[in-house]
Amino acid sequence: MTGPRLFWLACALLWPACAGPTMSPAAPPDPAPTPGHRAGPVPQFFEAEPSIRVLIRESEGPLAVSGVGLVTPQTAGLSSVTVEVVEGVLTSTGDVCRAGPCVFSAPAGVAIGGVGPFPGRLEVLAEDGELLAVLEVPIETYLRGVVSAEIPSGWPVEVKMAQAIAARSYALAHAGEPEALFDVRSDTLDQVYRPAVNAGAVAAVTQTRGQVLVADGALVEAFYHSTCGGQTENPNDVWPDASTFEWATTCTTDTESPRHTWEVRLSNRVVATAHADISHVDALRLDTRSESGRALEITLVDGETSVSMPAPEFRRAVGTRRLGSTFFEVRTHGDAVTFTGRGFGHGVGMCQWGAHGLVAEGRDHRAVLAHYYRGTTVLRAYE
Ligand SMILES: [Zn+2]
Repeated sequence: MTGPRLFWLACALLWPACAGPTMSPAAPPDPAPTPGHRAGPVPQFFEAEPSIRVLIRESEGPLAVSGVGLVTPQTAGLSSVTVEVVEGVLTSTGDVCRAGPCVFSAPAGVAIGGVGPFPGRLEVLAEDGELLAVLEVPIETYLRGVVSAEIPSGWPVEVKMAQAIAARSYALAHAGEPEALFDVRSDTLDQVYRPAVNAGAVAAVTQTRGQVLVADGALVEAFYHSTCGGQTENPNDVWPDASTFEWATTCTTDTESPRHTWEVRLSNRVVATAHADISHVDALRLDTRSESGRALEITLVDGETSVSMPAPEFRRAVGTRRLGSTFFEVRTHGDAVTFTGRGFGHGVGMCQWGAHGLVAEGRDHRAVLAHYYRGTTVLRAYE
């Protein structure tokens, strides 16, 4: 699926992976639409635990790979190598990687650019002038890192179990395309993945081993987000090519989120960067809204010039951390534009803060999933 992948590459976002002092959930997926990624194979067909290929790092320059007992196909005895393209040839500390990618492993994991160690098998490949570090790792191991990164360590295990099932479904719905260079990114374009894990995340992944969300016999691309601000969204209200699940629902349990409601004042100059055809914003109009109230299409007015664009695209252009969601009202005044909004993230699927609130009220992870992913069921995809 080269096309969608390139589209994703073009849609650089997002909020930092770091949860920060508020202990908010770290990084729900906030991708651009990805036709063809909505469903994978019938999950019962996995004969054993599958692996996932995770893009760990993209680099325009040389990439350092290290690890105790590092195994390389070329040179024995090195604990650290530098991968780079020399005169058009991919090399590992001077040795040519003849089979294509440079492949590495180490008993206690491989560090990439000083970050790690990551478990699994690392491939470094050259693509369009960049080096891509792609880790192939058993999915249950991967999920321990995802749940640790996505959910604060102190949150209840039932929240982490719901997150594990959603993240497993999301990852497997993106896996298995043989021509893709990787299955998922390790940042907020897909799911944040870090090698460090905490005990609660490990327990949640273990207790839900192999469990995925399924609808009509196919894996569900289980989007999730930090905070919906009171109302979640249907997938194809946010991305026209996404699935037609009717997941939009009221969420009354996310009010403890630090970004449940917010107001942000942006300079006119920043807002005008959203579209190349304007240099100043005299007015910003919300043309259409989803049923839940999120902006779908907006128009920016600069004198005689008016440009319209999808609200999610506008949010990405301005910065998804600056503008927490498309669930906003707007006022323009001179050199500034003030957005008054609700929630953090795209609003589709599970609201992590809402899940936290539901569990605080005594619901279990199955009830949380049923609330946010209406019409799906939980099945075990492999032993
Ligand atoms: Zn919510």
